[in-house]
Amino acid sequence: AGMDNTDLAVLCALVLAVAAYLKRDIIKELLFSNDDSITADDSGSRDIVQVMKDNNKNYLVLYGSQTGTAEDYAKKFSKELAAKFSLNVMCADVENYDFENLKELSSSTVVSIFVATYGEGEFPDGAVQFEDYLNDLDEGALSNFRYTLFGLGNSTYEFYNGASKKVLKHMQKAEATLIGEHGLGDDGAGTTDEDYLSWKESTFEILKDQLHLSEHEQKFEPSFRMIKLETIDDKVSLGEPSLQYLPAHSLSFNSENIQVGPFDLHQPYLAPIVKTRELMGNDRSCVHSEFDVSGSNIKYTTGDHLGIWPSNADEKVEKFLHAFNLNPDTIFDLTPLDPTIKAPFPTPTTVGAAVRHYLEITGPISRQSFGALIQFAPSPQIKEKLQNLAADKDQFHIEVTSRYFDLADAVLHLSGGVKWETVPWEFFIESIPHLQPRYYSISSSSLSEKQTIHTTAMVESAPNPAGGPNVVGVTTNLLKNIEVQINEKSTDSLDVHFDLKGPRALFSGFKLPVHVRRSAFKLPSNPQTPVIMIGPGTGVAPFRGFIRERVKYLESTENSKLGKHLLFYGSRNVDDFLYKEEWPLYAKKLGNAFEMIVAHSRLEKTRKVYVQDKLAEREQEIIRLLNEGAFLYVCGDAKGMAQGVHTVLVEILARGKSISKEDATEMVKMLKTTGRYQEDVW
Ligand code: FAD
Repeated sequence: AGMDNTDLAVLCALVLAVAAYLKRDIIKELLFSNDDSITADDSGSRDIVQVMKDNNKNYLVLYGSQTGTAEDYAKKFSKELAAKFSLNVMCADVENYDFENLKELSSSTVVSIFVATYGEGEFPDGAVQFEDYLNDLDEGALSNFRYTLFGLGNSTYEFYNGASKKVLKHMQKAEATLIGEHGLGDDGAGTTDEDYLSWKESTFEILKDQLHLSEHEQKFEPSFRMIKLETIDDKVSLGEPSLQYLPAHSLSFNSENIQVGPFDLHQPYLAPIVKTRELMGNDRSCVHSEFDVSGSNIKYTTGDHLGIWPSNADEKVEKFLHAFNLNPDTIFDLTPLDPTIKAPFPTPTTVGAAVRHYLEITGPISRQSFGALIQFAPSPQIKEKLQNLAADKDQFHIEVTSRYFDLADAVLHLSGGVKWETVPWEFFIESIPHLQPRYYSISSSSLSEKQTIHTTAMVESAPNPAGGPNVVGVTTNLLKNIEVQINEKSTDSLDVHFDLKGPRALFSGFKLPVHVRRSAFKLPSNPQTPVIMIGPGTGVAPFRGFIRERVKYLESTENSKLGKHLLFYGSRNVDDFLYKEEWPLYAKKLGNAFEMIVAHSRLEKTRKVYVQDKLAEREQEIIRLLNEGAFLYVCGDAKGMAQGVHTVLVEILARGKSISKEDATEMVKMLKTTGRYQEDVW
């Protein structure tokens, strides 16, 4: 059967204007208006080739990172290259450099590129200028250039590893030579680490051969000189989110206590949580929080994300300090031994502050970083055990991953409780990733709440099947702690506890460092355009914002009309129905324009029903609304739900339009590329 061409043409025409509006240029502009302030090394030069020359570098590792994972791999790769082959490696964030002169790089210098994919196959925020450079490359422009490529992506997304595939395409056009294979790390399958390890092993072999490198045993050489200090003064960070928050600077302690922006990924705003409540009435927990951003100049639009900067729980900090016998009161400063490297967090600081505020000490550990500890094992027997584990993927899974160990758990398990006293502090600074903000889909509307940002966070806590304390997430348990404190509830049921006052009491009054990240997840600008929203669980968060936006619009605009707004929501049962009491109020205000369709997957004595099933039941209506130009939104679980919805939608379109599944798949893809099918999934 042929694709219905008129349909497609109409579809295209309707959406192109919107897509152009929504797509990248605007986002680019918003994100990179003041980017030039970032200078690369001490010289302040952004010319990558010049900086390499100035610092005698003979190997370049570049990364474009969204959440810090690509950065982490790039840094580990650099460190290992330098240690094993005595190369003079420079490791750089593409955000900090210009690449116009890259073609002048000596042909004996290899460049290793690590790039993450974000959203719909896009480059990370900080790599957009690098992408522009690649886009503008002429044919044959890099014919002397040799590179390796490792992409980090998630195969549950439509445009899997899209950014690294784009790099490959542009490099091919520029006739650059790829060394080894295009490595693909797949977070969707949970195999990023193993994908990296096997790619790295084969790439190292080829590099050894092509660059005539001789290999020697890897020994940790710090990239910083550590200087111990005696006293804590105004310049010593105690865990402040950035240097500007130190008493020696202006942000935190000026007379009116006003913080001046702009606030972004590099500079968060300390926003008080003014209201918070528990949304679930059962054994699980989901926290609604309201952040007051008045006076900060922070602007958001409905559908954006809030980045929340966590700090580690007391229990985790103590365990880590204990496992490695670290003294939290040690005050230190770092001097880079290599001017192209910067301290990963504000210094001088204390060991305790770094462990609590700057290092990602919890979460699953990788076989690779575990292996790097071999040289510091407290005894030959433990060393041998560790060597075996690091070399055996399956055994590593059995002994470490399947027990949900974090780093401190794993080393203590391995040594039978003996402390690992000889791991140098510099090692942690360089090998443990920097604690990253977590993102939350904003659940308020900028039209109805200009100065307040709402989030809806599912508290991550699950029994460990291998025994011991619950497996917990850092940010969501921090939000839960604040909820319990503000509402003066018993703290008995908390899994972990936090220092809510923060460094120098900077967070007191229940403040947390936050920043807004722009997203392309936006309602159609014409309120009469029909909207289909699919968001089970916390996936409903941005749709609460969308609906509040429409309510406010109706209230404030005379003679206004709304298109149909269908919301497919799902929860296990009635206890975990998020914002249960709010929806009827919205329905009352919006009248016929709003309908909520609920699926419960674990109601007693009834069949499991998911949002996909409900969607299929509404086949006729979905087709009709899509024909009328409806926008479709999916938010929540990337793996199961978003894929399920995609499959059902293809089926609905195939049946409803009497076309083949292949054509229906094409049609869905086109809805996506034109911005009429938007996903906000994680
Ligand atoms: P983390 O500390 O990051 O831990 C992550 C997971 O690992 C947890 O489940 C934790 O229990 C588990 N874990 C901890 N230790 C181990 C171990 N040793 N071994 C194995 N596993 C371990 N979430 C929402 O609830 N609401 C939203 O609206 C929302 N919107 C999002 C929007 C975007 C664009 C993105 C990218 C994500 C969104 N998320 C949302 C997810 C959110 O960002 C966080 O990932 C989530 O809340 C967990 O954060 P955490 O800090 O509590 O857990």
